[in-house]
Amino acid sequence: MAAPKRFFVEKIAEEVRLEGEEFRHARNVLRLGVGDEVTLLDGSGKEYAAIVARAERNALLLHVAGEKPADREPRADVYLLIGALKGDKTELVVQKATELGANRIGVFFSRYSSAYPSENKLERLRRVAREAAKQCLRARVPEVEYFGDLASALNSAENYKNKLFACEFLERSEQTSDTGGSYCLVVGSEGGFSEEEFALARSCGFAGVSLGKRILRAETAAIALLSVVMARAGELG
Ligand code: SAM
Repeated sequence: MAAPKRFFVEKIAEEVRLEGEEFRHARNVLRLGVGDEVTLLDGSGKEYAAIVARAERNALLLHVAGEKPADREPRADVYLLIGALKGDKTELVVQKATELGANRIGVFFSRYSSAYPSENKLERLRRVAREAAKQCLRARVPEVEYFGDLASALNSAENYKNKLFACEFLERSEQTSDTGGSYCLVVGSEGGFSEEEFALARSCGFAGVSLGKRILRAETAAIALLSVVMARAGELG
């Protein structure tokens, strides 16, 4: 039997009104009606069982039956900083980072970036993260935010214990002691990083990481580095 459909709502209460885009998806695509069971998520990491109690013209009224165990959120707190990529590749990275368990995703614009920020793109990235979280049955949607330059992106990771900077011109990874807990991973855009940007990252406490002798596409590097860190943190089986 298929798992109940999942919806993110602002706030959980005994009665919840499902409106807007989530309502249209529930009615028009999923054809949900009175008596159907759904799972509600408020982004806290908890899940709630609910039943469709009433169908209105522009909303479904849901009766919340109670909290359900949610055990798919990672124990490791992982933050991915990715250089803005061309086309829909940033969306691909946001989708895969969500599935792999990142809690936070920052998109930055650095010296060799050839993609440019827009509010529409950021809204689209947040929608991709929400849909990916629903698909992989997570109870939390990673935050997605923009940084106008590399320095502000690096500074946003100040409190992360393990800071790794994927650097394509490094012969081998710098030695670091994995203290567990929280990780910030930085991957460049198609244009990569300058020596000065690498030096700036090191001054912010980041250790250089090599992903081998081949130059990976940015989206490959982001997925590979996230997978390695998640596996080491015991999050992949
Ligand atoms: N402009 C660079 C070049 O042509 O040499 C390529 C940049 S690469 C497409 C994009 C990003 O992926 C890099 O900035 C780095 O963060 C990461 N990356 C790719 N290959 C890597 C490797 N072998 N080791 C470490 N990081 C790598």
